[in-house]
Amino acid sequence: MENLSNISVIRDVLTRHGFSFSKGLGQNFLINPTVCPRMAESGNAQPGWGMIEIGAGVGVLTAELARRADKVVCIEIDSRLLPILDETLAEFDNIKIVNEDVLKVDLHKLIREEFAGMPVAVCANLPYYITSPIIMRLLEQPLPIRALTVMVQKEAAVRITAAPGTRECGAISAAVWYYSTPQMLFSVSRGSFLPAPAVDSAVIRLDLPEELPPDTPPKEDFFRVVRAGFGQRRKTLLNALSAGLCMEKDGVRQLLAAAALPETTRAEQVTLAQWKALAAAYGKMQ
Ligand code: SAM
Repeated sequence: MENLSNISVIRDVLTRHGFSFSKGLGQNFLINPTVCPRMAESGNAQPGWGMIEIGAGVGVLTAELARRADKVVCIEIDSRLLPILDETLAEFDNIKIVNEDVLKVDLHKLIREEFAGMPVAVCANLPYYITSPIIMRLLEQPLPIRALTVMVQKEAAVRITAAPGTRECGAISAAVWYYSTPQMLFSVSRGSFLPAPAVDSAVIRLDLPEELPPDTPPKEDFFRVVRAGFGQRRKTLLNALSAGLCMEKDGVRQLLAAAALPETTRAEQVTLAQWKALAAAYGKMQ
């Protein structure tokens, strides 16, 4: 169907199907015609590629992905949208809709069965109530995915892409940087959605390496140390790590020395290389 981002077209199709928006499912559909083509292009949708989308809505981004890539699999939890998508995406034969909760789908199996031999990327306007769980689930597995290009609330975009060692950085940024190289792509105003949310959004892109760099410590050690450090972010790292790792201060001093960090450092000042050094030293002590 043409003009899927046109507000009258969307209102018409939703009314005909008796659809009402679910706030609980984060249903804010895009009505700005420039956003989806831009997202699809920056999200690797191109010949030869397989794309995974999370949350189809009325299919506005799904259609842009299907126009450019070989195949699109879209995971959508709301079964009320299925008859709508049958109508709006009728012209495409390279789209499969999986009516499930993205947090419960076996993504390894899905990629193996649907995209054998193809490079795969994720491109989605995420439901905001589960932004971080979705991103972490996609990163942690790890999955054979080259890139995640996702729309999230602007504040979350700033936090997720903030480099460790900068003021906006938090535990989620350190986790994202452990697995990928994130970047902010562009902002999207709240008026670009139906219904309009209370805040603006932004599109970010996370590029994933085929393998993690050789200096990467085991994720269990890295995440324990990062969580402990940010658990009490106003305290010095000496106090935060001592409390969060249940360690004597002398032990923490050894960790800090291994990463060449002064005792007065706070979590937000620690760079990725220093978190890795702390985690490696912590791992050796166990
Ligand atoms: N892609 C559409 C667009 O840009 O207009 C819709 C985006 S809307 C922000 C989020 C979509 O995710 C909704 O269609 C919602 O039903 C779906 N959704 C919410 N929770 C989900 C979950 N746990 N698993 C899969 N889809 C989900």
